[in-house]
Amino acid sequence: MTKSFEIGVEERYSEEELKKLQGEKLRKQVDYMYANSQMYREKLKQASLLPEDIRELEDLEKLPFTEKHEIRKSQENAADFGKHQCADFTDVVRVHSSSGTTGKPTYVGVTNHDKEVWTDIVARVYYTAGVRRHHRVLFGMGLTFFVGGLPLKDGIEKLGATFIPIGTGASERLVNTAQHLRPEVLLCTPSYANYLADYVRSLGIAPKDLGFEMIGVGGEPGGGLPEVRAKIEKDWGVRVFEAMGNADMAPVLFSECPEGEGMHFVASDYVISELIDPDTREVKPIRDGAEGELVYTAIDRECVPLLRFRTNDLIKVWTGPCACGRSSFRIRCIGRTDDMLIIRGVNVFPSAIKDVISSFIPRTTGEMQIILKEEGPAVEPPLRIKVEYGYDVTEEELPELKKDLEKVLRDKLIFRANIELVAPETLPRYEMKTKYTKVLSKA
Ligand SMILES: [Zn+2]
Repeated sequence: MTKSFEIGVEERYSEEELKKLQGEKLRKQVDYMYANSQMYREKLKQASLLPEDIRELEDLEKLPFTEKHEIRKSQENAADFGKHQCADFTDVVRVHSSSGTTGKPTYVGVTNHDKEVWTDIVARVYYTAGVRRHHRVLFGMGLTFFVGGLPLKDGIEKLGATFIPIGTGASERLVNTAQHLRPEVLLCTPSYANYLADYVRSLGIAPKDLGFEMIGVGGEPGGGLPEVRAKIEKDWGVRVFEAMGNADMAPVLFSECPEGEGMHFVASDYVISELIDPDTREVKPIRDGAEGELVYTAIDRECVPLLRFRTNDLIKVWTGPCACGRSSFRIRCIGRTDDMLIIRGVNVFPSAIKDVISSFIPRTTGEMQIILKEEGPAVEPPLRIKVEYGYDVTEEELPELKKDLEKVLRDKLIFRANIELVAPETLPRYEMKTKYTKVLSKA
């Protein structure tokens, strides 16, 4: 018998059936939120909407957006999870925190039902990626407040695979366990995969000899960058797959299949995704080649459901059939609206700069740090960037490398950079989220 997570939602329903299902679930969700959430009652009133105005999927566009700062404010002004909380605290079985890349963390409550939904989505994500019952999964991310921890454990166990919870800051234990239990799968952030490869080599062990077959990366955008991915695949001799979610919506929602062309959306019966223009907020059709900001609406959530939540994630879309058999749309995260820099009117993403620096491996180590005099997004050129030169680069080669880096940055990203070359392994490495920028006025 096929298990619920083994078949895509788009394969289970016809397009019409899925739209109908999403519409019905949206209607129920809005009715429930209007009855239980003070914040959404106020938001609907402000938009002159009543729950009965939202009856089918097409009505989604009538609803106002929810911004991250509203959630933060909602929580500052009310107890527990804030004014958007819908379920009674008695029904909450776990609390997570969404750290976010900017600002204060917010608490995220999960009821038993929410937990079941998350577990189902997580199982789908890792099944789509190729993880099976017989696999041993070594987990190298945080297992505490972070949503990419315990909920992933639940989903991987539902899949029937073996979950080995190492967590972070335990590289020695990770290596010992990998040598003894020989897990095939490692889950971590892309920056930790790099950090760990350096660490393993410092022990005189080749990363490949640990025997991993797949490394699933998430928690930060780097996994989508071809050079970052190629480096991990080469170092470890593995297939890299990427998964992506959102702490306020679900731990993971997108998963890369073995075909490796973007991440499939696997949760369209639980969450509706939309694509918008981040500046005009206009909805854009999810079609091949489209780019924009990802927006989520929960349609099966009890504790802290959100409507049309702006993720700040900028994505590029692929559609059309995938050789893996799944027909859901695929994406790649191309940056975040909140870490964007504006250099003389040109939008520049730190992840895109990182991409260029990584394309110079082995002349660079791929590591870099952007130094800002003060908080962005507006920056006066030249942009100061520290870059680690490669292990085999000689002193005489440095001026040439600096010139080449600055030229490619100017050609590809249209801004003037001032590259400061530093020795390998001198820039900070991060086990969790990599910070590409350092603001001097904050130090
Ligand atoms: Zn696929």
